[in-house]
Amino acid sequence: MPLLVMKFGGTSVADLARIENAAKKVQKEVERGYDVIVIVSAMSGKTNELVGWVETTSKLYDAREYDAVVASGENVTAGLMALRLQEMGVPARSWQGWQVPINTTSAHGSARFLSIPRENLDAKFAEGFKVAVVAGFQGVSAEGRITTLGRGGSDTTAVAFAAAFGAERCDIYTDVDGVYTTDPRIVSKARKLDKIAFEEMLELASLGAKVLQTRSVELAMRYKVRLRVLSSFEDTDENSGTLVCDEEEIMESKVVSGIAFSRDEAKITLFTIEDRPGVAQAIFGPLADAGVNVDMIVQNISEKNYGSHPGAVTDMTFSVPVNQVPRAQKAMEDARAAGLIAYDDLVVDTEVAKVSVVGIGMRSQVGVAARMFKALANEGINIKVIATSEIKISVLIDRKYMELAVQALHDAFELDKV
Ligand code: ADP
Ligand code: ASP
Ligand code: MG
Repeated sequence: MPLLVMKFGGTSVADLARIENAAKKVQKEVERGYDVIVIVSAMSGKTNELVGWVETTSKLYDAREYDAVVASGENVTAGLMALRLQEMGVPARSWQGWQVPINTTSAHGSARFLSIPRENLDAKFAEGFKVAVVAGFQGVSAEGRITTLGRGGSDTTAVAFAAAFGAERCDIYTDVDGVYTTDPRIVSKARKLDKIAFEEMLELASLGAKVLQTRSVELAMRYKVRLRVLSSFEDTDENSGTLVCDEEEIMESKVVSGIAFSRDEAKITLFTIEDRPGVAQAIFGPLADAGVNVDMIVQNISEKNYGSHPGAVTDMTFSVPVNQVPRAQKAMEDARAAGLIAYDDLVVDTEVAKVSVVGIGMRSQVGVAARMFKALANEGINIKVIATSEIKISVLIDRKYMELAVQALHDAFELDKV
């Protein structure tokens, strides 16, 4: 029997009426002759509420109990979806992660898949069940404890099941009708893309476009899963939404395909550090040990005999997620107290955001950075840090200009035009 994976995000299962609406979409595919694995998120807002309850109860919470609490949102929607389908005459059964089992690492809060054995679900399909409703975002560790995959993780559950079961397609139903040139909630002129290359989607996701979890795109790319993003609120068919696919499937692409942004960034600068081999290691080693995710890094050119310093000194700037600033600051202060590094001053700017332009067309085109910087200059937006790779350019700017920057860049690269 051909098999489809259909994933419904939080807003698509936000209440009983929406669960029914989603169930009708599943029923339609069953009537077309598919077996379906449905992956559900928690009702919208539920996961945030659960996280809040954990944090209020215990500041330095035990991550195993965080996962035990936070995974529960998906259990509710899985059961309700199975019940709704049964009421509609569709043979369906719900599955929590441990029942499948979805085997993951023990990294609570950000676990990764190890294996998804097919036996249990296959046996149920063989019994005549047409739909397996699987709770997204969760799994079970070798120790037998519930794990979660990180926020937005149901997307990754969906792609992993599509890969494990050789699904014809993995359809991600959400509250927008596809992947846009940028978040349509920020730029009203944003345009829906019919197709986007895996690599571009990977960059957009990792640079802040939350429409797909980054890891889900990675998995889809690795296992050649046909991944589609489409609306759960509209009538859809095989041509709806946006297909995430190999770049060979895309006839022509623009220099820049999309713009991503990430609001909650912070910039940390260490002033007057020694410029000698081993200094970067002495800074970023302790940060890594403290679990800080350093993103952009800039080291200034070395100044000889700067101020009162006898040797060569420089400054080091890096960006981290804003909620990791206290941890980063403590790691640096501890490293200084332990004599591992020396610096005159540590300055934190918590009011920054990152805006990135992404496109595989950049590989063969010069002048993209200049065009980007000109658009920002025209709006009087100062760039604090720049980072580039083969298919993206990112800048760190004042957070208050983030939306203006995204709009200006969308216009400058004419992304509203086909
Ligand atoms: P779900 O709950 O279905 O997983 P998410 O809220 O995680 O949905 O993701 C969908 C949201 O992603 C959209 O509502 C939109 O605001 C946001 N988004 C950000 N960037 C983009 C983009 N480039 N294209 C489409 N949506 C985007
Ligand atoms: N419910 C989880 C979250 O809000 C997982 C998901 O929806 O993908 O992050
Ligand atoms: Mg999501």
